[in-house]
Amino acid sequence: MTEDCLFCKILAGDVPSDVVYSDEFVIAFKDIYPKAPFHVLIIPRKHIATLNDTGDDDIELTGRLFSAAKAIAAEQGFAEDGYRMMMNCGEGGGQIIFHLHLHLMAGKTFNA
Ligand code: 5GP
Ligand code: ZN
Repeated sequence: MTEDCLFCKILAGDVPSDVVYSDEFVIAFKDIYPKAPFHVLIIPRKHIATLNDTGDDDIELTGRLFSAAKAIAAEQGFAEDGYRMMMNCGEGGGQIIFHLHLHLMAGKTFNA
């Protein structure tokens, strides 16, 4: 738990969220400003600010963000039609919350 991190507060239950998936390593909850009919953020339980802050010890954890995305997409019925994942890194990459997260969006057809 890192103070002043919104997603750590969500993890702690101090800020409400609509959780769709949870395991020992990651949780996923609905994005408050969805950019697709289905839009969730998958985050590690461990506070890591950005992808730049991951080390070799975090390789499995970052992989778990993707395995959770795959599981959620299947569970929600989007596996066959397809879905989009996105990760922003740093201010220039459009990151506004500095707790590592993978966006999972589905429910529409995305253009290239
Ligand atoms: P970023 O731009 O950092 O990759 O994405 C941060 C995402 O967090 C944005 O899509 C934004 O809509 C979402 N977000 C910001 N504040 C909250 C919040 O309080 N609750 C939830 N569930 N999502 C939030
Ligand atoms: Zn955090």
